[in-house]
Amino acid sequence: MSAEPILEIREVTKTFGGILALNRLSFNVYQGDVLGIIGPNGSGKTTIVNCITGFVKPSSGRIFFRGKEISGKPPHKIADMGVARTFQIMRPYYSLPAYKNLVIPLFSPRAKRTGGWRGGGKLGDRNTVSIDILEEIGFERDSYVPYKMASSLPTGYLKRLELARCLALKPDVILCDEVFSGLSMSEIASMVPLIERLQMEGITLVMIEHRLRELFRVANRVVVMNFGEKLTEGTSDEVMADPRVKEAYFGSEEISEVMTYA
Ligand code: ADP
Ligand code: MG
Repeated sequence: MSAEPILEIREVTKTFGGILALNRLSFNVYQGDVLGIIGPNGSGKTTIVNCITGFVKPSSGRIFFRGKEISGKPPHKIADMGVARTFQIMRPYYSLPAYKNLVIPLFSPRAKRTGGWRGGGKLGDRNTVSIDILEEIGFERDSYVPYKMASSLPTGYLKRLELARCLALKPDVILCDEVFSGLSMSEIASMVPLIERLQMEGITLVMIEHRLRELFRVANRVVVMNFGEKLTEGTSDEVMADPRVKEAYFGSEEISEVMTYA
């Protein structure tokens, strides 16, 4: 891990009307991290992803990517720099086949420059590249699945499609907003090696997760949020040993998982 942060979140505040969604939130993401962000519902996790990726403008504070300020830039500029994201509520083009969902990001300037994941600067036939990426991410190449309409894909495949859409940009960082939610234990189990592979490929990952047990298998560091603030950060063992973390989760649906984590 290098000492220079790849992403630096500095004192970011976001208000929506009277709601303080983020309150002077600061943390760093380092190259090669799989950084977990956890916290009860409504603690501001999606909002910080929205701020980092330009979908929401911070009310105050600054965000840097490789030392360059990105706060205030529009989403397509930030994505073009190499910061990709998935959506908690999946956003495929439902009326297109799965592989065509990737053809669209493959027309982006960044994909043209990079060739897409493993493109090595050369973008071949976009349909073929799309199928290549889908295969990498767990769509059986010789099956009909890559050709199915996105609207008919089960959640497990749609979550993978969200990740595949990011890979089409050959990103440096992917922010994953609850990619495990709605998946069965066996589907998650099959996603974990994929996450590990992305990390080995040199992609830095920020993972917002409710599924703590599965998250802790892959995350080297965890930031805990509560009421828009950073409650604590550290390794999974460190943060789970902090009584304030259990207190923050008290009464929420994940409480049993937090309580039984040991
Ligand atoms: P999390 O992802 O941790 O569940 P969010 O970031 O979605 O939390 O939400 C943090 C707080 O900000 C919540 O109180 C939520 O209702 C509020 N919020 C988020 N987005 C908006 C918005 N677009 N307009 C108004 N309030 C919002
Ligand atoms: Mg959320």
